[in-house]
Amino acid sequence: MKEIPELFRKLTPEEEKRNLIEWLVLSKEVLKHFKCYRCGECCSKAPVLLLKNELNSILDKLGITETEFIEKYVGKIVNSKLLYLKNPCPFLERDDNGKAVCKIYDFRPLECQLYPLGGTNTLYNTTSCKMAKDIFDEIMKLRLNLYEPTEEQKKMFLDKKDDQKKFISSILPGSASKEKATDIFITTGILVKLLDKFEGEKNE
Ligand code: SF4
Ligand code: SF4
Repeated sequence: MKEIPELFRKLTPEEEKRNLIEWLVLSKEVLKHFKCYRCGECCSKAPVLLLKNELNSILDKLGITETEFIEKYVGKIVNSKLLYLKNPCPFLERDDNGKAVCKIYDFRPLECQLYPLGGTNTLYNTTSCKMAKDIFDEIMKLRLNLYEPTEEQKKMFLDKKDDQKKFISSILPGSASKEKATDIFITTGILVKLLDKFEGEKNE
């Protein structure tokens, strides 16, 4: 197998810090190319982290005090900078068709804006989030196109869904769980390549 390329290398903490803004911007761009199925799994099962400095704008929009917000919506205060919303998220509603609706969509927390790409540059819940699975599939196609995997690896990925986990750990050591196809580390390099791919497809 070819050497693991720079593109898939895990970044150092210093590089991560430097690249965070770029990563956020690119992530939002990449997410525009995927559809959320509005199943509400993430909002009802994944605890949402809220940065204290995001709180003020949410308080303004809701027109309530911090104390009221904490009583009504906060599940856990981690420290002076971080808190978790209650779980399931109290802002989750359903429309007449049972589709998830976020009551604070226009000013929802950054973590929600980035889901299923995570603040720690990981791809969450490819098993329960269909959008995460779609992103994962695109990344794997990218990987297949770029690095000429062996026939055996291609077969593993394309034919047998269960074996995708083995495939991931064979090509992305250190960045993917051997047990489950979650927590795939998404570098800015991968995001750029995805955007290039979408741009190329648009111009074809
Ligand atoms: S779990 Fe995924 S598909 Fe379902 S609402 Fe959340 S982001 Fe959308
Ligand atoms: S704030 Fe909105 S998007 Fe975020 S978890 Fe709650 S309902 Fe979902």
